[in-house]
Amino acid sequence: MMIKCPFIPEGFCVNIFGTYWVRDPSWIDAKVINHERIHTAQQRELLFIPFYILYGLEWLLRLMQTRHWRKAYLAISFEREAYAHGGDFTYLSRRRPWAWVRMWKKAGRRK
Ligand SMILES: [Zn+2]
Repeated sequence: MMIKCPFIPEGFCVNIFGTYWVRDPSWIDAKVINHERIHTAQQRELLFIPFYILYGLEWLLRLMQTRHWRKAYLAISFEREAYAHGGDFTYLSRRRPWAWVRMWKKAGRRK
């Protein structure tokens, strides 16, 4: 479900409990929806609230590592998984649970 919200920054889609919050939905395409569906799968396996806590904590950690808010955002394990597979529309049907954990390991090795 898509919800128009003027408080969301332009060009962002925020997934809140499986609903997609955007300022202007005109740029939302199938790939973005798939990206958000991957986040919903991540949220479900973490029972939602812990997802947001881990997401925020990892963003802070990545911010300290990169000192750049967007690089930090792209380095978050949840985002790595969603960006790596957002264009693969069969990914969710064969996705392994906790797939984002492997992205954490991958991110660590890159340093
Ligand atoms: Zn994302």
